[in-house]
Amino acid sequence: MPTDAPTPAGPTLRPATLAVTVGRPAHEPDAPLNAPITMASTFVAGGDIEYGRHGNPTWTALEEAIGALEGGRCLTFASGLAAVATVLDLVGQGAKVVAPRHAYNGTVMQLADLEARGRLRTELVDITDTDAVVAACDGAALVWLESPTNPALEVADIPTIRAAAHAAGAYVVVDNTFATPLLQRPLEDEVDLVVHSATKYLAGHSDVLMGAVCTRDEELLRVLKGRRDLVGAVPGAFEAWLTLRGLRTLHVRLERAQANAAELVRRFREHPAVGEVRYPGFGAIISVVMAEGALAADLLTRKTSLWVHATSLGGVESTFERRRRWKSEPATIPDGLVRLSVGIEDVEDLWADLVRALDDLVLPG
Ligand SMILES: *Cc1c(COP(=O)(O)O)cnc(C)c1O
Repeated sequence: MPTDAPTPAGPTLRPATLAVTVGRPAHEPDAPLNAPITMASTFVAGGDIEYGRHGNPTWTALEEAIGALEGGRCLTFASGLAAVATVLDLVGQGAKVVAPRHAYNGTVMQLADLEARGRLRTELVDITDTDAVVAACDGAALVWLESPTNPALEVADIPTIRAAAHAAGAYVVVDNTFATPLLQRPLEDEVDLVVHSATKYLAGHSDVLMGAVCTRDEELLRVLKGRRDLVGAVPGAFEAWLTLRGLRTLHVRLERAQANAAELVRRFREHPAVGEVRYPGFGAIISVVMAEGALAADLLTRKTSLWVHATSLGGVESTFERRRRWKSEPATIPDGLVRLSVGIEDVEDLWADLVRALDDLVLPG
């Protein structure tokens, strides 16, 4: 499909322009301005698609846009975890995978499930301990990074770990969901694969599940596309269309959400009900550890009216939850940790809602 914006190989436009323009039809009279949705399970024979599991023009438009932002080629999937599963399936039987001890729960659970069934071996690492991660690369087939991590918000030294992993002959994958390609482009650090839960910031409106994988390696792209065709972990056309519509405003949403987050971090640090504030210095996810522990965290998430007690993240709406309410959350995550996904509302309203609840949690004396 011809587009009016450059491919990653073409002249470079800045990310905000890419987000708005890539994947649009050519500027011809009466052409729709944006890629229309193609609802089709079957296509007339003789072309490249033939059947709806192999391709869809709406996916293509979305894949061009995400690929341009990450600086590589993109494949979209039915969900972030469908993308994770397809990438993990790259490793051979019994191979070693290095992964963060703190990461998105679904990823850690997939690894545990694969290990329990003898499919692969995992070595879980503290990604902030670069020496330990580098040592763990020895004998690995794949090194999985998430940076910042969920929900500890730890940051990895991607270039150093990437070099060690490649020296060991391992693929390097970065789950870039929290940072988005606007704040971090791991393919530029020669990482092999970038994974996204596009459900979060890329789509941005808490109304769709979508996954994506990006790479500069044409052979990996071909293998992953083959796996996607075979297992059918494909997105719906409507979901792809909604995600692309959301992606058009990614830069504006993220700018506001990040500014709100930075302001809330400053205020949390001053509040006596908050024991610790974790924020990597960029993005719009904050974790706070309540001074009085789990009960205070649970009370906080029930006492607000604007902030919604809900899992997930990356939408325009501000949401939060105590992470240890999930049985799958590791015990190394503090019991009283609340992860906040800061939205794009007015920051004064967000703080007023929080501070009413926080003030109630300060014990007298
Ligand atoms: C949500 C999430 C996933 C899983 O994506 P789904 O779209 O929910 O399947 C993977 N990684 C991270 C960092 C996430 O936040």
